Order: sequence, then C-alpha cells, then structure tokens
Amino acid sequence: MARKIGSRYTAHQILGRGSAGTVWLGEGPDGPVAIKLLREDLASDQELVGRFVQERTALLSLDHARVVGVHDLVVDGNDLALVMDLIRGTDLRTRLDRERRLAPEAAVAIAADVAEGLAAAHAAGIVHRDVKPENILLDMQGPLGPGGAHPALLTDFGVAKLIDTPRRTRASKVVGTPDYLAPEIIEGLPPRAAVDIYALATVLYELLAGFTPFGGGHPGAILRRHVTETVVPLPGIPDELWQLLVQCLAKAPASRLRASELAVRLRELQPLLVGMAPLDVDEPDADPAPEEQEAAAEGPERPTAPRRGAVPLVPGAASADSNRDTHTSMRVPAPDELAGGARGTARAPRASGAPRPGSARNRSSARRRRLTFGVAGAVLVLAVGGGIWAAGSSGSDEGPPTDSNNSAPAHP
Ligand code: ADP
Ligand code: MG
Repeated sequence: MARKIGSRYTAHQILGRGSAGTVWLGEGPDGPVAIKLLREDLASDQELVGRFVQERTALLSLDHARVVGVHDLVVDGNDLALVMDLIRGTDLRTRLDRERRLAPEAAVAIAADVAEGLAAAHAAGIVHRDVKPENILLDMQGPLGPGGAHPALLTDFGVAKLIDTPRRTRASKVVGTPDYLAPEIIEGLPPRAAVDIYALATVLYELLAGFTPFGGGHPGAILRRHVTETVVPLPGIPDELWQLLVQCLAKAPASRLRASELAVRLRELQPLLVGMAPLDVDEPDADPAPEEQEAAAEGPERPTAPRRGAVPLVPGAASADSNRDTHTSMRVPAPDELAGGARGTARAPRASGAPRPGSARNRSSARRRRLTFGVAGAVLVLAVGGGIWAAGSSGSDEGPPTDSNNSAPAHP
C-alpha cells in the first residue's frame, strides 16, 4: 500500500512503530529512505509544526557517519514527516532484548560510535536529550567492528525536544522510563550536552550488565537513585573502563567527560577488552513497589510483564504500549524533597546464581512487571504541568552552547 508523502516521496511499507509515529520504508528522488510519519495529533498541532520548521536547518545540517541523517522535513496537508537515511538493521534495544548483555568489546565499540555522533551534534550546539537503546540503530549492512559490533548510529535528534514541551505535556500524558535521566534534569536544570553523556554511560553500563545502574522498581525510586545514589561496581571489567563509567555517571554535569573525549577514551580501551566474555552478574533486586509488597503479603505469584516499556509517572496517566520514550518534561520535586539527606549506594548486583536475599518470591520478575500504578505521595509526584526547564538556571556544564532549549520560557 503505497502512500504519497509530499510531492517527492512515496511510503511503501511500515518498518516500525514508535511513540512519535510510524516509520516507513520509502522512496525518494535519490533512492530508498526511511520516513517517519508523525502521529496525527502531533502533526495537527500548529505550534509543533512551526517549531519543526524552525528546527529544520539544525536537523538537516547534522551530517555525520554516526548519526542517522535527516534529509527532509515534509509538511503536507495533515502529514508531518521526517525523511531519514534508511538503516538496514535493528535497534540496540532489540539486540539487548535478545542477548541480555554484550561482550565488553562490542559494548564499548557501540558506545564509542554513539559518543562520536554526540560529539558532532554537541559541536553544532544540538543536545539529543533522549539517548537510549531504542534510539541507537545498528547498521547490519555496515562492516563488522570490534567484538562483532555493527556500526551504531544515533537517531531521533531533536525529536524529544520538539514533542516534549511543557505545553504539550500538560495536555497529554507523561509516560516513559526514567532510567536514562541525568540528575540535573530531575533537579530542574535545563538539559545541556552533559545529559547525553550521562545517558550514554547508562546505556554502556546496561550493555555490560544487562540492567541500568539506577533502574528498577517504582519510577519515583529510579529518580531518587539518580540524584542520591552512587553507582555500584560491575565485577570483572577493567578498572580503566570502570573509571570512565563512574566519571560519566557523575552527579555533577561538569565532572563528566565531553563526548569527543569519551569517544577517544573508549577507543583506547578497546584492545584491553578483546575476547572478554559478557559479564556474569545478576540484576539486583529493585525496591519492591507498594503493589508488589502487597502481592508478597498475599502470597501467590502474579503474572509478570516485561520490565521495559511505558511507565506512567503520574496518577491516572494511561500507559501507551507503543511508547518507549524517555519523557523528560516532568515537574520534578526539589532536590531537598527528593534527597532527604544521606546518599546511599545503588542496589548491589548479586553474584550470579546467589540466592536472592530475603525473598520468598522472585522479585526480579516482579521488577520486570509493567508498572501501571500511579505515583502517590508528595515527594514522588511528578506532576505534569509546569515545565521543568527553569529558564535562567546556569547549569554547571561547561559544554558547548546548547540549542534553543535554553530559551524556553520558564513554567513555574
Ligand atoms: P519513536 O522514536 O517515535 O518511538 P523510532 O524512531 O524508535 O520511533 O522508530 C520505530 C522503529 O522504526 C524502530 O525501532 C526501527 O525499527 C524503525 N526505524 C526508525 N528509524 C529508522 C531508520 N532510519 N531506518 C530504518 N528503520 C528505522
Ligand atoms: Mg525513537
């Protein structure tokens, strides 16, 4: 079923569905392309369309081997479409779901690719804001790199920012996984380049460990861990790699490496990792959520659902199956509300095969359960409404100038 997109493109078949719309395999004047057709409610939003057109130049100018290139933005009647390089392969989430953990050599190769893409973007003043495995595409037609990793490319530049505005979030739902959110975002600072470094370090940790450093359990617990807890060491990786992860997961944005430096350091580590098997660590137990505690008290095991996926962050917010975005527009409690003082350490991974402490039931599977309950309690209220991008906050990042995010009006 072919469908005309503007005067120059034809969409032929659906490649995938995402939270922002549907991605089609298409044809343009210069050959095959991928066309992301935005959801109707987004496409019919005049303000969003306006910003789309404004962003056009920045999006189109980002031309780098590690970034999925955007060729065109089509605004045609009710259609709003992004025409991109066609990547024949899969996204990193799909690979991770299949393999659980990657060999360190492959994990680091992928992270280095993404760091290079980020370096180019940051140099152009563009912050991605939504680095996560779903937005990293693996080009299966590209040459195999270290550890058997296909080239990785970062996609969805600028999309999070366009779609995720305070105005929009007020009108719609806040749904997403907060696993990759930098602590300064949770504390209400504007997202600068260092948020992408934090998110990428989180992805690298996840590729190595099979779980994110601060993820698991209740969304409010995840946010709290980002702000207050230190990352738990992964047994079995070279110290140089560990130090790099720790530095890029630093709470203070200014302490993190810049993307270009991270890319270089990761490439330098590569020889140390040749032939290393994937790590053998088990996912730590998450803080059991209230409903899980209840369930535990009641006894019988309930059916589980995949841990990944939409996590409503506000009471009453519907969970959208297709939505795997990290939504970064939330009103978040002040640091003192969140922290409550002492810093702890994130949940320690258990040695593989060790019994789960104090657990009559399998909390790991409980952890994978889709969280569909609302957030209760003042501290954990991630109210939609006021945007979190408080204008005028200086942000301690010393990174390059950021995009127009920072000129967003304050929404107290
Ligand atoms: P969203 O960000 O809106 O959730 P995605 O960008 O993740 O949507 O796209 C959904 C799916 O479409 C991806 O998982 C991938 O399979 C496919 N896809 C996206 N972009 C491309 C591309 N440039 N080339 C090939 N396939 C793509
Ligand atoms: Mg995406």
